[in-house]
Amino acid sequence: MNPKRSRSVKLNDGHFMPVLGLGTAAFDGVPKSKATEATKVAIDVGFRHIDAAYFYENEEEVGKAIREKIADGTVKREDIFYTTKLWSTFFRPELVRQALERSLKKLQLDYVDLFIIHVPMAMKPGEELLPKDASGKVILETVDLRDTWEVLEKCKDAGLTKSIGVSNFNRKLLEMILNKPGLKYKPVCNQVECHPYLNQSKLLEFCKSKDIVLVAYSALGTQRDPNWVDKDSPVLLEDPTLNAIAKKHNRSAAQVALRYQGQRGVVVLAKSFNEKEIKENFQVFDFELTPEDMKAIDSLNKNYRYIKLAFAADHPYYPFSEEY
Ligand code: NAP
Repeated sequence: MNPKRSRSVKLNDGHFMPVLGLGTAAFDGVPKSKATEATKVAIDVGFRHIDAAYFYENEEEVGKAIREKIADGTVKREDIFYTTKLWSTFFRPELVRQALERSLKKLQLDYVDLFIIHVPMAMKPGEELLPKDASGKVILETVDLRDTWEVLEKCKDAGLTKSIGVSNFNRKLLEMILNKPGLKYKPVCNQVECHPYLNQSKLLEFCKSKDIVLVAYSALGTQRDPNWVDKDSPVLLEDPTLNAIAKKHNRSAAQVALRYQGQRGVVVLAKSFNEKEIKENFQVFDFELTPEDMKAIDSLNKNYRYIKLAFAADHPYYPFSEEY
């Protein structure tokens, strides 16, 4: 069987997405070469889905790892599922395709597997990833996401990406795309923060009803980067219930948090740049949580969002003011 198809879910456009992916976002200060090392380790242990973004500023290093693993015969290009994301400064229709081409140039690949709108809120175009005014406020702008989406469709038709999708969209924004007159392709996925403290059960149900895959980010409780996450936020992997279930199965809390998503039909990302943890995170296909375990983990939900993107809270497309 094609390795990309085993442990994969079929997307609404016929392509396959592996159900477990490596996250590659890293802090300022983490040497860029770590992304190359981690991606190579991940491919060696079996990861075939790599989640990246222009915004993470390490696509060159991640691309290098993929190319090296192709060159040494570990994988073929078609075995890898690579996601990149359209950053907010490139939402104007005339900028979308060149944004993807920039990523491809950094990667030195001919195509990506998935190109998704990173967040719904556009920012002022330019080289700054977070353009700010004199008072330090991020400069947002409003670009009709339906116009942006039409260019993503064109990127798919041009073969620059196999699939297209969105990230950080709520139900209303998804419906705006789904109801767009002349829609050619539906989003294949909506990548959102999702873990036992924010299990997204309503958004998941909605996405399933539209054949859109929900992809969970920060499934291990985020990297707790103080630029994005409140330092007093609860530490997911220290949760007593998760740890008790882990102990019972002789697993780690991280493995339970990842397995939980797989068993509820969610594709899950796990970021680690640590060899031992990357290996551990891939060992989630050989045990099963019981229905009672699943129920206990479901009951941990408290709609707690780590990454609030509060600086954009007054943008008309800010997604987190709605219930889901
Ligand atoms: P995460 O997957 O929730 O992981 C968070 C932390 O857990 C990491 O700091 C990692 O540290 C640690 N960790 C990993 N495996 C572990 C294990 N087995 N045991 C103990 N600790 C472990 O992190 P995330 O970066 O927030 O989310 C994952 C990915 O989702 C990102 O890298 C990115 O690709 C994507 N993402 C997307 C968005 C979006 O807006 N679309 C937003 C956030 C994230 P070490 O590196 O030290 O192992």
